[in-house]
Amino acid sequence: MKLLLYSKGLYSTWLYYSPDRLLFDCGEGASSFLGNKCFAIQRIFLSHGHTDHIAGLLSLINIRNSAMGDTSKDLTIYYPAGNRQISLLKSYVDQAQRRLKYPLTWVPLEAGEKVEVFSGQMDRSVISFPTQHGKDPSLGYNIIEERKRLKPENRELPQEELRKLAKSGETIDELYQQKLFSFGGDSTPIDPTLVEETEILCHDATFLVEEDRDIFSHATLKEAIQVAHAARVKKELLIIHISSRYKHQLEEFKQKIDDWELPFKVTLVPPGRIFRQE
Ligand SMILES: [Zn+2]
Ligand SMILES: [Zn+2]
Repeated sequence: MKLLLYSKGLYSTWLYYSPDRLLFDCGEGASSFLGNKCFAIQRIFLSHGHTDHIAGLLSLINIRNSAMGDTSKDLTIYYPAGNRQISLLKSYVDQAQRRLKYPLTWVPLEAGEKVEVFSGQMDRSVISFPTQHGKDPSLGYNIIEERKRLKPENRELPQEELRKLAKSGETIDELYQQKLFSFGGDSTPIDPTLVEETEILCHDATFLVEEDRDIFSHATLKEAIQVAHAARVKKELLIIHISSRYKHQLEEFKQKIDDWELPFKVTLVPPGRIFRQE
């Protein structure tokens, strides 16, 4: 299991990314659905402080303290620095949960901050980026893997030549950062340069139809696709936060998207249903 996700606009959004044991946002119902997987989570990244993205935190923090599982494992919650709603929730937890058996750490983040998340063979990190959504600070997050590739000038060389170069002590390859996954939370269209060439982009499209949007704090389907296109998304655009008003029309929209023959897959995450992806 790689992704386990629930997203229904205004009600609840949370996303579990299993390779690095990360939870993005923690809307209502997260711990009920995740069950024992709550104990696997090491880090939670919150995009903003609206109720539908943080209401499940109290239960998750409590379950980690009392259910059947390793109740001594650390949990770290990262959130946009200066977000008032999250600060209020933090102070409630500080007062109501004085006897936690595990270390719970809250870390405020500015845009552009890096958090190391994986210490295996691959170097993985999460880097925050700015999003536009409401008055309080909000953030999106990129999961990044540091990889090696041949330097551009060496890519056409035959194996024999490469071996010689390497033997002579020359550095034949270079490090580069590949975005594996980008989570935008709720937002108006994300600046494509912030999620450039990501493999999977998770973007808000609360409104599948532009005319239904009253206030400019969420994106539309068309805008999300434009962002993915401009960012040259490599594999897939995952559309989240879809308003439940469209729940019986998803097939219709899927047909339209297929007709556009886009260079990446587009998936509409059905509002109100658990979504899994291997
Ligand atoms: Zn929301
Ligand atoms: Zn919101």
